[in-house]
Amino acid sequence: MKKLFSLILALALMLSCVTALSEGVFTPGTYEAEAQGFGGMVQVAVTVSESEITAVSIEGAQETPALGGVAVSTLGDAIEKAQTPNVDCVSGATVTSNAIIAAATEALQAAGADIAQLDANRRDTGAEAVREDKTIDTEIVIIGAGGAGMAAAIMVQQAGKDFVILEKMPYVGGNTTKATGGMNAAETHYQKEQGIEDSVELFAADTMKGGHNINDPALVQTLAEQSAGAIDWLDTIGADLPKISFSGGASTNRIHAPADGSAAGNYLVDKFSAKLAELGVEIMLNTKATELIMQDGKIAGVKAESPDANYTINCKAVILATGGFGANEDMYTQYRPDLKGTVTTNAPGATGDGIVMAQAVGAALVDIEQIQLHPTVEQTTSMLITESVRGDGAILVNQAGKRFTNELLTRDAVSAAELAQEGQYAYILFDQHLRDNLKAIEKYVTNGLTVQDDTIEGLASKLNIGPATLAQTLNEWNEAVKNQNDAAFGRTTGMENDLTTPPYYAIQIAPGIHHTMGGVKIDTSAEVISTEGAAIPGLFAAGEVTGGVHGGNRLGGNAVADIVIFGRIAAESAIEYCEK
Ligand code: ADP
Repeated sequence: MKKLFSLILALALMLSCVTALSEGVFTPGTYEAEAQGFGGMVQVAVTVSESEITAVSIEGAQETPALGGVAVSTLGDAIEKAQTPNVDCVSGATVTSNAIIAAATEALQAAGADIAQLDANRRDTGAEAVREDKTIDTEIVIIGAGGAGMAAAIMVQQAGKDFVILEKMPYVGGNTTKATGGMNAAETHYQKEQGIEDSVELFAADTMKGGHNINDPALVQTLAEQSAGAIDWLDTIGADLPKISFSGGASTNRIHAPADGSAAGNYLVDKFSAKLAELGVEIMLNTKATELIMQDGKIAGVKAESPDANYTINCKAVILATGGFGANEDMYTQYRPDLKGTVTTNAPGATGDGIVMAQAVGAALVDIEQIQLHPTVEQTTSMLITESVRGDGAILVNQAGKRFTNELLTRDAVSAAELAQEGQYAYILFDQHLRDNLKAIEKYVTNGLTVQDDTIEGLASKLNIGPATLAQTLNEWNEAVKNQNDAAFGRTTGMENDLTTPPYYAIQIAPGIHHTMGGVKIDTSAEVISTEGAAIPGLFAAGEVTGGVHGGNRLGGNAVADIVIFGRIAAESAIEYCEK
């Protein structure tokens, strides 16, 4: 009897399995869903047969091409290969990646899929492929395809030299894509045409002063002297920066931006990429340099690895353009233990590899502990709330609902003031009028960073701030704007508009790591200097990987100047070195 019962049970189980199989994993068809990305909505269409995901197409025209765009173009394939929507995010493009994953999940659920089951049956995506040993012989290796590396690459290609350019991420641009302002340059043709008086001396003096005078004066002089020429060179490659305005720490209008006022970083990365493509240069993406090879005291090559190869690249000269280390918490806390746990605005590739590789061959470091904090970073997303929000009139209040600083002091001073508040955070507060006039705000609203209300008291309640205190703070500020006199904190700029147009908005912010000013020591020819004080033959460096240009504080507009000017110098020096 017992046996018979077991037999019936087994038969019943088999039958239910057959039924489940014949029902299929999906109901065949194409299913669409959308989710909020970084710049706008991301649409995903998933096509399924009864048993598998056969195609995934993704549209996300408003995503940043260099970052979110990579997720848009690669995650469809990844989902199809893994047969589940839960694939790895593209690092640096988490918001877009998560939007794609969410939309694909919704579409697959509509197709009748059990997502947990898809995860359990995930297909091996072959990540553990065996690497082949490969050797390349060339003249120059450029490590890093951010602003400095790409500027150098254009120069080297135009000089007809044989070279390779390595980029460890699946996309180019690095921290350069994060540069929102423009490029400082003095005595440019644009300044002359627009009647702006400026001089190389003034630019150098402002940079030294901004850097608390610990900058290397020779590097600063070179930066200032070569800046107008660098603007001319940008013109020749179709990357004009004609729009000039004022930026903190400058004695005159000096920051050069694209004609439409858009962010210079993305603009230059797009223009540099387009130029390199036009010149036929192929950037080796997903290829990380791991070591500099020395022979007889000179650079002789680079070791690098990609998902499918271990490279030995023999060369005469190397240009290090690997950027800073603001995304490497172990490294920045080694030099600045006080910054432990601070979020970063940096691109994920900014891990200081070039500094470590250069040190291994004897390079000296300068100002390595000089790290710039940006005072307005939303902490859950690390999204930087642009300085323009304060520049256009926003104020900062603490949890008690009170202002605590002149919001437009230098970044280090405002950051320090925030860290002195209870909880070490603050709220940036603005109104609808400011939102209407600053495009950047839309991104913060669509990403859910803002809390809003039609009344200031309502906003206060949502933030757990005493409504009467916040209302009084706002009244006092609006009075200060009306009288153009901020008796409380002496603010004199960003006071053109009061904050009286509902709805009112707030974003909780705190300081985040923004720029690592220190790095490898270079001379004015971008030669890397050893701890013994001599140039390391064949090794050149440019951009955020180096130290000395910015001293103790980098002025807005000087990072872009640094990468273009020293990227070009490093290329010229490397070319000359190879011809010796
Ligand atoms: P800069 O502003 O100085 O040009 P960026 O941060 O814009 O610096 O660019 C540096 C680039 O170098 C980034 O794209 C980063 O991913 C890349 N990079 C960093 N380390 C390595 C490495 N070990 N190999 C290849 N590329 C690297």
